[in-house]
Amino acid sequence: MIEVEHLSKRYGTHLAVDDISFKVDRGEIVGFLGPNGAGKSTTLRILAGFLGATSGRVSVAGHDLVDDPLKARAALGYMPETSPLYPEMRVSEYLTFRAELKLVPRAARRSAVERAMRDAGVEHVASTPIGHLSKGYRQRVGLADALVSDPPLLILDEPTAGLDPNQIREVRALIRRLGDDRTVLLSTHILSEVEATCSRAIVISRGRLVAEGTIDEIRAMRRPPAVCLAVR
Ligand code: ATP
Repeated sequence: MIEVEHLSKRYGTHLAVDDISFKVDRGEIVGFLGPNGAGKSTTLRILAGFLGATSGRVSVAGHDLVDDPLKARAALGYMPETSPLYPEMRVSEYLTFRAELKLVPRAARRSAVERAMRDAGVEHVASTPIGHLSKGYRQRVGLADALVSDPPLLILDEPTAGLDPNQIREVRALIRRLGDDRTVLLSTHILSEVEATCSRAIVISRGRLVAEGTIDEIRAMRRPPAVCLAVR
């Protein structure tokens, strides 16, 4: 579903992503694990088509991000780290607007928004302005936004950041349910988040891929990268 080959990203002189390659198969829930500043958001923003790579190749659902960007982007829903903008917009209004931007056909828009609200658990706040919602519910609106075009792939950037323990449990359960019939790549700096939601992890530190495998495989490594021990 995702193929990344020798991807690098430089911001001025700073090499934020340094020659990483990995694959995510259809149906997997994969954690993209690393400490703050490791290069997770940069990589996910490149995969989502919001940031250009300095070098390397990325394909999504078999479509090259540079040669065939519209098809690649149509296959994925991206939830950024930050909450949705437009605090004065009601949830259903915002999602309808987003569905329009994502070219969901007019006749299908209403049912697409209703399905996304149901899947993300925000249907009971459909008429509430986004700015009146708690952080947990704003995160869910971000998830509903990623779901509104019903993509087969979800790319979620730290989906539980800043939530309280109850909200974290709920969002993790939601991600596991969404992963029943979708591929999910989610970034986190918490090893237990990967254990709770993912079948395996790709570990990144200082822009480089340092380990890959199931949590048990990573733990069983003779010398697990320090980052895997530090990020608990
Ligand atoms: P976090 O969990 O803190 O979001 P991250 O793993 O997502 O961290 P990135 O946000 O991708 O890491 O940042 C990787 C590195 O690139 C960091 O050193 C960061 O300071 C730097 N960086 C990120 N965005 C920019 C930018 N627009 N311009 C310059 N440097 C940047």
